[in-house]
Amino acid sequence: MTRIAIVYDFDGTLSPEPMQEYTVLPELGMQGGAFWERVDAEAAATEGDPMLVYMRLMLEEAAARGVPLTRARLHELGAQVHYFPGVEDWFGRIDAFVAPSGVQLDHYIISAGNREILEGVSIADRFRRIYSSEYHWNDEGRATFPKVLVTDTTKTQFLFRINKGVEALHQSVNQHMADDDRPVPFTNMLYLGDGESDVPGMRVTRSYGGRAIAVHGAGNARKQAACEALVRDGRADLAAEADYREGSRLDTLVRKVLATMLARIELERELD
Ligand SMILES: [Mg+2]
Repeated sequence: MTRIAIVYDFDGTLSPEPMQEYTVLPELGMQGGAFWERVDAEAAATEGDPMLVYMRLMLEEAAARGVPLTRARLHELGAQVHYFPGVEDWFGRIDAFVAPSGVQLDHYIISAGNREILEGVSIADRFRRIYSSEYHWNDEGRATFPKVLVTDTTKTQFLFRINKGVEALHQSVNQHMADDDRPVPFTNMLYLGDGESDVPGMRVTRSYGGRAIAVHGAGNARKQAACEALVRDGRADLAAEADYREGSRLDTLVRKVLATMLARIELERELD
């Protein structure tokens, strides 16, 4: 079965704000701005990884405020996450576009956010896999340590997992595999991301023949300029507003990318 994959970053790509701002931070009575400033300041002062710093600060703040941050509660809070326009029916429409070709289309999330939240978002069942940071939960149901950490550069590991079909984290991704044996060739991969944190993912996807589109929120001049810079600097192929509604520029571009992949797949079948 020939397969195509669309890989999405989450925050800023499918959803306007970092997922914690719809979920954990209001639960703790905290403002997003102040929290992220603290993460950045502490990461800078201690030369820590900002992703590990935010995961620890979330737990420390919850403990300090006496708010039980359980896996079930994070899952529940996922329902509060907002999306860019058109996201909720995007997957059905894009699936229907590819379906007549007989090629299998799968959607994946690779996010530095929290898997416990992402599993609770209304679109969670649209994804074949959600790769995201995750806590280890002890027998009392308390998060004690990060179990999985996703950062800008570790995102690329998950692209190779998708590419080679070694999707479970306990499987080694480093075994040699001939290109022809890889279930999702990079040429059948489209990466959607919103910024600098997606540069390694975009770069890897594109350097092996896949496509990358940089997206930004409507009216966000700073993010738009950043996306255009990604295109100019050869990181992304295209930039578009994160508008997933039918007929939007993004919808049109993604269909063109998919149609090109499908035409190439069909030709390759003739040449075989
Ligand atoms: Mg993002």
